[in-house]
Parts: sequence; structure tokens; C-alpha cells
Amino acid sequence: MSARETGGAPLGLGAVELRDRIVAGEFTALEVTEAYLARARELNSSLHAYQAMDEQRALERARQLDQALVDGETPGPLFGVPIALKANMCLEGAETNCGSRMLSGYRAPYTATFVARALEAGAVPIAITEMDEFAMGSSGENSAFECPRNPWDLARAAGGSSSGSAVAVAADLAPISLGSDTGGSVRQPAAFCGIYGLKPTYGRVSRYGLVAFGSSLDQVSPFARCVRDLEVLLEVISGHDPKDSTSLPLEAFQAERPAELQRLVGLRIGVPRQYQGEGLDESVSTVCDRALAHLESLGAELVPIDLPHTRYAIPTYYVVATAEASSNLGRYDGSLFGSRVEGDGSLQGMFAATRVAGFGDEVKRRILLGTYVLSAGYYEAWYGKAQRVRTLLRRDFESAFESVDLIAGPTAPTLPFALGEKTSDALSMYLSDTFTVPASLAGLPALSLPAGFGGAEPPLPVGLQLIGPALSEARLLRVAAAFEATTGHHAQRPTLSAAGGTA
Ligand code: GLN
Repeated sequence: MSARETGGAPLGLGAVELRDRIVAGEFTALEVTEAYLARARELNSSLHAYQAMDEQRALERARQLDQALVDGETPGPLFGVPIALKANMCLEGAETNCGSRMLSGYRAPYTATFVARALEAGAVPIAITEMDEFAMGSSGENSAFECPRNPWDLARAAGGSSSGSAVAVAADLAPISLGSDTGGSVRQPAAFCGIYGLKPTYGRVSRYGLVAFGSSLDQVSPFARCVRDLEVLLEVISGHDPKDSTSLPLEAFQAERPAELQRLVGLRIGVPRQYQGEGLDESVSTVCDRALAHLESLGAELVPIDLPHTRYAIPTYYVVATAEASSNLGRYDGSLFGSRVEGDGSLQGMFAATRVAGFGDEVKRRILLGTYVLSAGYYEAWYGKAQRVRTLLRRDFESAFESVDLIAGPTAPTLPFALGEKTSDALSMYLSDTFTVPASLAGLPALSLPAGFGGAEPPLPVGLQLIGPALSEARLLRVAAAFEATTGHHAQRPTLSAAGGTA
């Protein structure tokens, strides 16, 4: 039954299906955009996924697309599909404030390569999403603006730092969105919100036009409600870009689409001992164990493996990422970038006053840590050592992939936690990324899929993370597709009442 036959708006569909039905003439891009804007107007005041909607731009673009179809232009793979963008992504003229007072009112002077590619494919950017300030956080609570709510339970965190982009897709304020993942910022919120999130191999997607946090880790990453959409969005945004020297010299990513998706015979899945036990909630491990058993029932072989340096991943990440952040964030001093505060009138005073006023506590903490680990006399002891441990973590994966095709385990150690629960304890917040940070440090692709639900009332989503060797995205997607085709977890959606509360 089409959305129109139900008398409803064209909501609730996946991106690819929506695109096909627009192209088939079932509804126009304008009708779709209007329906999504109306839904966001209704629900955003309680979900806080969107910090800004540019309705005029979205409607204008939808009208142009409808005209292009009438004119006989070939519609792209995301033709007419609304997309939400994290507030650290440049879309010319849109506010790119990175969830920070420092960049409040700053408008992007150009469009990021990956955004331009989504536009070329026919996507309609409808909103900029809320995020933890400069992508530092795991709950959305470090935003200088609004904190997004988990649509499964509004009192809980949506995960972070790409909180709003995850909430938008989970609550169908958009069929797809983009986030950025430095240490887990797409996978962990995907797990908390019950959707898919895929961090590509480092270098798969150009970072040109993504505001830098940890440049050796940052990757633009798609969110979606089904594997097909995730795959198409990844295909659209990936590929070499001369404007980012770390983007890999690859043709655009081509998904593998074997006829038989549901059998995983011959696939060896490594289950790391270090991703079990201490620190892992029982409600999460129960759901993940069931998901692994399901993969086994599809023909995969589960192989216990060791990633012996896993326990050093969080400390290593908080040296490497803070070092890079302290350098990247040096530009926000009120001279070229950042809302200037004059201070005592001297140049130094202006720099200091600007940074004191513009940055929130967590960002200041990271800049202080990063400056310390890079400072003369401490550099070798901290930064140099962390780089060597990073190599050991990478080697853990290399040797594991000599005997297994991919690795699976929980995406996050806990269910979505209550808002406020971890704000006074930075370390407990950092530990949310225990299982996502290793793949980031190793530059490997990793996907979080909706694995089921855990806990008491209301049941909360759990994510299973699949990690593969470099450039193995097609394999991860194939396994996720087989899981999806034989389970129904991804199809469950939170019920949101008109007033925006969970029903
Ligand atoms: N939560 C992690 C952090 O706070 C990861 C952030 C990210 O991936 N952007 O650094």
C-alpha cells in the first residue's frame, strides 16, 4: 500500500524506496519535503534533534528537483530524499556552529565535498542537527544548545556526539542523515537509537568541509534505518577528493550484492574475549550473544579471539585525540575564527577572553590535556608512547584478521543511560567508547546494527558492532543485510505521540 493510498504523507519509508516512488510519480519531492518539515515542526520541540531547519532552501530545492524530472533529467540515487547534516559539516550559507558558542552564527563559506556529492545524488538537506560541542562527548549533553533526547525514552541519552543525526533517523524526522565518527560518535548513537551507523575505513570519505576534531581519526559516516539505505548513502559520499590528501585514491565504493544474502556459510566471525566481561552490562551481553547465535544459525562460524591491547585503547585515544584537538582548535581565537571577546584590550587578552567565553568545559578539558601531552618534556612520555600503543592496537587487528573475516561484539557497554547520569564523571562517559575506539585508532571500517532490545520497561535498543579489515565495507554490509533479512529488530520504531512524548 503506498503512503498516498493510506491517505497519509509519504513518511516512514526508506530512502531508496522513497526515491523510487518519487521517480515513479507517486508523490513529488515537494510533497515529501513538506511532509518531513511538518513532522519535524511537530516533534522537534521534544526531541531536539534539529538545531535549525532551512525550510525555504529545502522547499526551493525540492521544486527544482521536481522540475528536473519533468525536464527529463536522470534522477540520482537519492533523488528527493531529505537528509539531515551534523552541525560540523559545511553547507554553504548554513550555520556550522559545531554545537559551540564559539561558532554561534558562523555560516559555512563553501560546501563540503561529501555534502556536494549527496546534493548531486538528489538529496534535499532539510536540517542541521544538534551535537556535542566540537564532537566531544557520548550523550549530546556537551552541546552549548539543546540536548537531543532518545526517542525510545525521552529521559535517556541518544548517545553522541552525532546525537541529533541519530535521533532524526530513529524518529523519522529524515530517512537518512550524516554524522562524524572520531572514536564512536556515529556507532554509539546508532546503537542507542536502534538504527544503523557505519564508520568507513579512514580515507574512504573526504574530510574536506568537515570541521576537524582529531584529523587522523575523523570520518564522515552515514546513519540509516535499513542496510540498503546505508549502503547507497556510503556509495554516494565516498571516493577520492583532491581537496583531502588523506582521502584514498579509490573509485567510488561499490557495494557487493550477491543474490543469496541470507546464508553466511564459510564466514568466520571473531568474538574478542576482551569485548566481554567486566564493564559490560548483562542486558547488553544477552542481546549480543543472541545476535551472534543468530549469525551462527545463518552458517557463520564463531571463533573466540584475543585483541590483547584493548584495555589501552581508551587511554591511547584520549592522548591522540586530545593532542590533535588542541592543535585543530587553536584557530578559534577570535582573530580569523570564533566569536571575538575583546578582554583587556591586548591581543593576548582577546585570545584568552574569546576562548574562555566560547568553549564549554569538556572542550577546555580536552585542549588542556592535548596541550599537555604535546608539550616539551612530556611529548615522548605521552604522545610518542600513545602512537606506539596505537601501532600495537593496529597489529592486534592485523593478526586477528589472519584467521577471521570480521569481528563482532557489542557497540556500547551499556544500554542508553539516563541524561545527567554521567555528566559529573568524565571517565565513566569516556568508557562508553570502550568498544568503538579500537577500530577508530586502527582506521578500520565498523558498523553498528540494531541487534534487539534489552532491559526492563521500556525496552531499549542494543547495537552489535561488526569490525572488518580495511576497505571491507561491502562485507560488513552483506552480513548486516543477512541479519536484517532474517530478523525484525530494525523495523521496530519508537512510538511518538503528537505532543512528542513516547506513547
Ligand atoms: N565520544 C568520543 C569522544 O568524546 C568520540 C567522539 C567522536 O567520535 N566524535 O571523543
